[in-house]
Amino acid sequence: MNPENAYAELRQFQIETAYYHSLGALAGWDQRTYIPRKGHEHRARQFAALAQLLHRRRTDPRIGEWLDAVSGADFLSDPAAPAAVNVREWRRVYERSRRVPEELAVALAQAQSEGESAWEQFRRADDWEGFWPYLKRLVDLTREYAEAVGYESEAYDALLEDYEPGERAARLQEVFALLGRETRSLLEAVLASPQQPPAGVLERDYPVEVQARVVRELVGRIGYDLEAGRIDPTTHPFELSVGPGDVRITTRYYPDYLGAALFGAIHEAGHAMYEQGLPAEHWGTPMGEAAGMGVHESQSRLWENAVGRSLGFWRHFYPLLQENFSSLAGVGLEEFHRAANAVRPSLIRVEADELTYNLHIQIRFELELALFRRELDVADLPGAWNEKYRDYLGVEPPDYKSGVMQDVHWAAGLFGYFPTYTLGNVYAAELYGAARAELGDFEEAFARGEFAPLLEWLRGRIHAHGRRYQPRRLIELATGRPPGAGTLVAYLRERFGNLYGL
Ligand code: ZN
Repeated sequence: MNPENAYAELRQFQIETAYYHSLGALAGWDQRTYIPRKGHEHRARQFAALAQLLHRRRTDPRIGEWLDAVSGADFLSDPAAPAAVNVREWRRVYERSRRVPEELAVALAQAQSEGESAWEQFRRADDWEGFWPYLKRLVDLTREYAEAVGYESEAYDALLEDYEPGERAARLQEVFALLGRETRSLLEAVLASPQQPPAGVLERDYPVEVQARVVRELVGRIGYDLEAGRIDPTTHPFELSVGPGDVRITTRYYPDYLGAALFGAIHEAGHAMYEQGLPAEHWGTPMGEAAGMGVHESQSRLWENAVGRSLGFWRHFYPLLQENFSSLAGVGLEEFHRAANAVRPSLIRVEADELTYNLHIQIRFELELALFRRELDVADLPGAWNEKYRDYLGVEPPDYKSGVMQDVHWAAGLFGYFPTYTLGNVYAAELYGAARAELGDFEEAFARGEFAPLLEWLRGRIHAHGRRYQPRRLIELATGRPPGAGTLVAYLRERFGNLYGL
């Protein structure tokens, strides 16, 4: 087989796989939004059939033959050219999938689905004793998985590779050491400041239908193309891409709290704008995919926090809120802005403010790293969890469900995923700083309702590249320097220093 033909066949095969995958995504969206209560059982069987089909396609021996046939071909000589990027990524995924014995893949998938159900059931009852054997099984199987796919220095690196290619535990430890230390000292100063934000501004009467209308208008005006997307209500907000022209988001509405819908929607719109900016002509191949979970999160965090909690942003959008919500009559712009940036150490990650958020992630990262370094047993997690919450945030969970059992990630077998949230913040600070240095004073532009220059900058530097580069390299090329926690620390100092008069 000549290399050109082999590449064409391989590409066709992978794009077909992507179509099946995207049908599954659509069924997943439906499952999390509008499925009738009695439809879940059938949906689970649909997913099982699809998972089997996808697994067979991912490990199809023809992929190996096509990869052999294109190996060393002239048209792959430029590593940044789309064909070379695609071949590199297809090879990486194929080799990893082939190293996992089928029994292990099946056992893991089953343990993950059982783990999630167990989590829902035992979390409701606050029953750690009932839950932890499921978690133990997942940790054991995931250790086996790490051994099967292989790593250079430690098992945890093998897990990171699935979410953030090229990232390493040792480097993350450095990121968290600096960020954690600086955050805690800044937090102390913030809490001691006499200049505290007004309480209760976001916790008032905000009719849900009005929220939905306002949120829709707002995310449309910052650049989320609603003709190629939609917003629906859910309990757990998410962004989901069906394909070019169909990138959806969800948010949740509380009648007595505006923050969840508002900032949740801006966050998910950030994810969606990334997906909408990926090169559609490469859809179904790695060149048309996001670079990694950390980069994805950098887009959502940048819009939610750096942009969506800035004073300039609210100079533009606050009139829209005031027109629509009588609860904000008499609340000034600055007052609202300060309320939107209030810092409060808390127990629950998803409700954390911008400053303390990374401490929640640091705790999870340190615990899962200890698990995979065999320095901690699953049975001892609650004690270790509570101790870290006391140390880092000064709070102590009164029960398991607001402690070690609050997140679904571990129950779903997602180990190595949590640090991508903080990497997202690290990358967002780098990108925001570089874009601001090039484009000038953002806040003035935001106040005029101009968000397109920033979005265009992100489109060119990040979105257009798909998976061309590993995440760190992509950020380095976009900003001119390798990413590090120092920029995020400086950004947080500036932002909270101004807000709290430090
Ligand atoms: Zn996100």
